[in-house]
Order: sequence, then structure tokens, then C-alpha cells
Amino acid sequence: MEASLTARDRVGIQDFVLLDAYTSESAFLDNLRKRFHENLIYTYIGTLLVSVNPYKELDIYSKKQMDIYMGVNFFELPPHIFALADNVFRTMLFEFNNHFILISGESGAGKTEASKKILQFYAVSCRSTRLLNNVRDRLLLSNPVLEAFGNAKTLKNDNSSRFGKYMDIQFDYQGGAVGGHILSYLLEKSRVVHQNHGERNFHIFYQLVEGGEEDLLRWLGLERNCQHYSYLVQGGCAKVSSINDKNDWKTVQKALSVIELSKSDIEYLFGIIASVLHLGNIKFEADVRGYATLSNNQEMHWVSKVRLKQTTESLHPPIEAKTDEVSFYYISINHVFSPFSVDHAVYARDALAKAIYDRTFNWLVNKINESLANKDSSRKTVIGLLDIYGFEVFSVNSFEQFCINHCNEKLQQLFIELTLKSEQEEYEMEGIEWEPVPYFNNKIICDLVEEKHRGIISLLDEECLRPGEATDLTFLEKMEEKIGGHPHFVTHKLADQKTRKTLQRGDFRLLHYAGEVTYCVVMQQSKNPIIKHCFPSTEPDSKKRPETVVTQFKSSLVGLTEILMSKEPWYVRCIKPNEAKQPGRFDDVLVRHQVKYLGLMEHLRVRRAGFAYRRKYEIFLQRYKPLCPDTWPNWKGTAAEGVQRLIKHLGYKRDEYKLGRTKIFIRHPRTLFATEDAFQD
Ligand code: ATP
Ligand code: MG
Repeated sequence: MEASLTARDRVGIQDFVLLDAYTSESAFLDNLRKRFHENLIYTYIGTLLVSVNPYKELDIYSKKQMDIYMGVNFFELPPHIFALADNVFRTMLFEFNNHFILISGESGAGKTEASKKILQFYAVSCRSTRLLNNVRDRLLLSNPVLEAFGNAKTLKNDNSSRFGKYMDIQFDYQGGAVGGHILSYLLEKSRVVHQNHGERNFHIFYQLVEGGEEDLLRWLGLERNCQHYSYLVQGGCAKVSSINDKNDWKTVQKALSVIELSKSDIEYLFGIIASVLHLGNIKFEADVRGYATLSNNQEMHWVSKVRLKQTTESLHPPIEAKTDEVSFYYISINHVFSPFSVDHAVYARDALAKAIYDRTFNWLVNKINESLANKDSSRKTVIGLLDIYGFEVFSVNSFEQFCINHCNEKLQQLFIELTLKSEQEEYEMEGIEWEPVPYFNNKIICDLVEEKHRGIISLLDEECLRPGEATDLTFLEKMEEKIGGHPHFVTHKLADQKTRKTLQRGDFRLLHYAGEVTYCVVMQQSKNPIIKHCFPSTEPDSKKRPETVVTQFKSSLVGLTEILMSKEPWYVRCIKPNEAKQPGRFDDVLVRHQVKYLGLMEHLRVRRAGFAYRRKYEIFLQRYKPLCPDTWPNWKGTAAEGVQRLIKHLGYKRDEYKLGRTKIFIRHPRTLFATEDAFQD
């Protein structure tokens, strides 16, 4: 707690729930700004942690700091990501149930850094034995590997996660980390073949070219020069001062060995990465009939020389490989390209490169999971960490942004379900008097996208399954016909005059909870119909009706929601203070917007009006009954009566608590801390 009034004035208030002018957004912002300028980047709203990216190294993550936060009551020390991590851990141990920490915020807000800090905290705080240390190291080192293959420099963040990540850490009943499991979501594979100005491909490509040993590069037929590779230079910034590819290569090599990739796995892996680079350099010419032919066999030689048949076949699902002839790639490329125009051949080449990379990434996640798998079958509890890409708005937004933003929309919906809505419903159910707090429910937007038969995903799906007939235009028309009247959807044709000026003919706009985004209906920006995207040309004659990319995405989101709904939620909301990645700069407009769309004010209002802590009578009594001679050692009556007796004995004040049907609700954490302290004494 802050020591004096002057100190408090200077450093602001560490829990927004205690802020006097709590309903005002300006007061909220003032407090956040004040603290930010004092390098106090963390602030609570009850048990939710707000974090503002400092864009500079702060001396608050040392081992010493970890020790300070271990096993201390949540609100007794200044807010910290370690305090949250510790609180989750101890709640899990005490109640022996599952939890997850949802880390959200826009690109560059600090989500990945936050998730790493939490993992590091657990690595230090959890029980240690030689066997467990092995697991701990693998958990920690899965990070640099996945970041190398799944992160890239974008305009917004030099180390931007281009995939969504959910990681379970499994603990035994004594709190030892015994295993883990990672789920990855929707890698932005288009980056493999195309990068916008000022952006890069995935880090690993540059690491290999810059850091790879001479022998390795020779074997892979690579030159030590990023400029040579068409897939690496489209953003015009292969070299960036904030990134040291050479060093990162070493880190990744070490990490790969700790997660137990075999030598041959590693060779295959980099063989694939190299062949993607070679693939990108393949050029085509038109023959007399206008069909694509290879203009030079040199690159193809390397693509086939690296001979990755075995590895590609071991990827799941395997990339089309039904021939034994000279080289898998050569055949598959010929097979795909031969009757095509040059444009189509380039498109098919890129589709192949993307598919290979995407599946390699999934293969790597599987390998990491094998190494994290816990062999012991005794009951475990888990803490899940969800670090998912933030809401994104670019000048041109395509299929990937559509998926990413919808994912955020769903998570916001989950947040609403789990906190605002369920909190209010709980008060009602428990018969606690309560003034409802209004909030915007974004379910209407989720439905617009995923409703059966008339949601955007269903409509896109239908169009994908009409080969030859569907075009971008028919898709747009279909949407206009089916959802044209929806208040969160607009197109050029449907718009009023003023809005129309801001829309192109081939665009549609969604009014997301976090703001408006205009999507380019040519979901895959190319001359090819959507169908090409949905049925990758690497699977030319699959007999089964394949799942389209959107459907896969939708079902993985449903899966994620189910995983989360079965666990107790905790939240870290990350805020980006400025667009320039600069320390010490707090841009009011930018922060205000994030505060709004992260739903922080609504969350605060519910928290403020409500009760910080609630527990079932049984659990509360079980824990604290030694504090009262009437309830210790055995209480004969109902748990509710026992709790009443207990709190009377402890001297709880009338306005500090409420008794519901099945639970006790405590307004302020300090009441509970006093009880907890008495218990510890
Ligand atoms: P994306 O959605 O693009 O993946 P993100 O929210 O995961 O973005 P991070 O990669 O975690 O963003 O953070 C971006 C950068 O901000 C980091 O590389 C680091 O330089 C800086 N940063 C973030 N959090 C902290 C912190 N707690 N302390 C110091 N620097 C930080
Ligand atoms: Mg990230």
C-alpha cells in the first residue's frame, strides 16, 4: 500500500477500484499516466492486471523481485505480473482446480513479454528436482524456438507474434511443473511469400542465412546474403538494428537441442526452410502456348537436391507425395504448374511455399509437445497462458486480419460472459442486492460472422464449395443479400452517401467492438478466385470434400472457447502507450481508445459495485474454521451457519460482506487479508 498521501499523489493509486472518481475515464487515464511516468507500469482493477508497455528495460523482474512476490497476499505489495502469477498458482494449489490467464491487447502492447515473465516466474517458484528441471528448461526454451518460426518484424512490433498461442503448464499436487502442451492458432503463412514495406519474413529465415554455419549453408545451397532471396526482401528491411539474427540463431540451436530434436530432424527442418527460399527464387517464362515453363533449372536443382521427401511425408497431414520419381518437389511442382499461365504458376509456387511452411510449423509444435508431454498419469492441475494476436487494422485488411479480429471478438465475448455477465448473474442467483451495470454485448457481431447458414463464414464456405462459379463478386452479393440489413455490416452499395466515399466497390466493412475495419473482399489478394485459397493446390485430387480454411478456423475457435470455459479466468490487459515504440511517451488518445475497447471502464464499474472476493461456504469454512473455537475442529451445523458464526467471531463489519445462497461475498480484499494473516499467525 502507498505509504503517504504525497507518495500516493505522485504514484497514483495501485488499484482502480479504490479510485474516488471511478466512473470517469479521464480520472482513469490520469492515474495510468501518473504511474507510467513513475515507471509503475502495473495497476489492478481488483484481480485484473493492467500493464502499460514501458518500451525500456525495468529492473523489476530479477530473481530477488520474484522472491519478494512469492507467497505474499495479492494486494499487499505493489501491483506486479509476478503477484498475479503467484496468486493464480496458490489458488490452483489450494483449490486443486484449473486456471487460465488471458493476455490481451493490441500488437506491440506487451502480451508475449508478459507471458514470458509469467513462465519465468513459475520456472523459479515451482518445486525443483532434477527431473522437474528438465521439464522446466523445455518449457522455457520452447519460447525462442516458436518465436523464431512464428514471429516477425512488422510495422507495429519488431517481434510480432504471427500466430496465436495457448500453452498449458501442468502441475502435480505439490506444485511441481511436470509437463506442458501448446496449441497454436492460424499462423500468418502469407508472410512467407509476401511482406509489406518495412516488414520482414519470419525471423528463422534471416537467422539461417546470417547465422548458419558455412558447412550447413553449402549443403543447403544457400548464399550468406539475404538480398539474394526474393522471399526475404519484399519489405526492404532484411537488416534491422533491434534484431541480432546471428545471436538469435545460436539461441535457437541450443533450444532445439534441449527440446530434443534429433540431428536428422534438425537437418530436415533447415532443409525445408532452405527449399522455401529456393522455391521463392524460381522464375517462369511463357512457352509458345502461353504455358509456364521454368526459366532456369538451378533453383529447382536445389529444391530437389535437399531431398526432403521423408520429412515432408512425416508432416501431418502429408503434403501430396504419391510418386517415387526423382524428386517429390519437382514432380509436384510440374504436376501443379504444367497447364498454367505464368501468373498461375507463380501463385501455385507461392501456395506450395506457404503450405510447406505452415505444416512445418505445426510439425514443430508437435515435436515440442512430445518433449513436454508428461508421462505420469496422476492427476494434474493446469495453468493455461493465452497469448493471442491483438486486434489489427491496416490500410488493406485481408483474410488474415478478418480471422485475427474475429478471434479477438470471440475472446471479448468470452470476457463478457465470464466477468460482466456472469458476475451480474451470480449476484442475482445468490440473491444479493445489486444495481446492474450496463455494458455493450458484442454477441451480435460474433453472430454476424459465425451464425449457421447466414453468418459470413457460412456464406464464404458455400461460395468456396462452388468451384468454377463462385467469384469475389458473387460472394459480396451473397453477403449483401443475406446480411445487408445488419447494423454492423456495410458495403459500398449499402452505404449512405457519406460512408460510400470511404469504401471501394470490392470492400465490406465490419463494425467490430474495437472499431471499424474495412476488409478487401478478395480474401486472398490475387487474381485467383477464393476457391484457390480454400483448396490449396498442393492437394489437387483429394476425393473427400475438404474442410475450408475458414471452417477449420471456426472450429479451432470453438475448441479454444471450450478449453477456456472449463477453467477459472484471470486477465492481463496490455496497453501500448505510443505508436513510436518509445519509452516515456504516453499518448492520451491512443491509450483512451484501448481503455475503451478493452472494456476496462465497464469491468471497473462492475468490480467497484461488487465484491472482490467470494467463496463457497464450505471452502471458506474449511479454510478458516481453526480461527473460531465454535467451528473448530468440527462444525455440526450447515456451512452457511458455520461461516456466520466464524465471521461474527472475527468481527467482520456489516457493510464489508454479504451472505448469498451458497457463497460469502467480501467487498474488500483487506478484510480477507486480515483473516488470512490471523490464520498464518
Ligand atoms: P504482437 O501482438 O505483435 O505479438 P505483443 O503484445 O506480443 O505484440 P511484445 O512482443 O510482448 O508485444 O512487446 C513488444 C516489445 O515491447 C518487446 O519486444 C519489448 O521491446 C517491449 N516490451 C513489452 N513489454 C515490456 C516490458 N514489460 N518491459 C520492457 N519492454 C517491454
Ligand atoms: Mg506477441
